[in-house]
Amino acid sequence: MPTPTSIPVVDGLFDVQDGAPALVGAKCTACGTHYFPRRARCSNPACNGAEAAPVRLGPRGVLYSWSVQAYRPPPLFGMDPWAPYAIGLVDLPEGVRVMAMLTGAPPEAFQIGSPMQLRLEPLRVDADGREVLTWKFAPVAEHVA
Ligand SMILES: [Zn+2]
Repeated sequence: MPTPTSIPVVDGLFDVQDGAPALVGAKCTACGTHYFPRRARCSNPACNGAEAAPVRLGPRGVLYSWSVQAYRPPPLFGMDPWAPYAIGLVDLPEGVRVMAMLTGAPPEAFQIGSPMQLRLEPLRVDADGREVLTWKFAPVAEHVA
């Protein structure tokens, strides 16, 4: 969560309320279609392009698919050093499919259909020494019987 020593990778994509992170998307005020990232107007062709209002999404979802990125991310990411990492598509209960880096397990260990939980984690450290936070999804911890 953002602190004086951490900043979001992009403003407005996620927030933290009462210690709980969530992605910030939008919901059409007419047809209810959800979007991530946020947008100002609905683009559902069956809708009239009504206003879309900001809404918190998740924070849990289901892993739709994933892969391991084994090549250097674009310089924009600033990940230096870097190591191969998993990236996946997570279906949120609001009907939005979100792409995100995956965490909380080795890159080869994710399973399609697994319940996933949003986490905010450092992507890199900027020139001022601040952690640059991004959104990731981790497998929901198994409860021990
Ligand atoms: Zn709409």
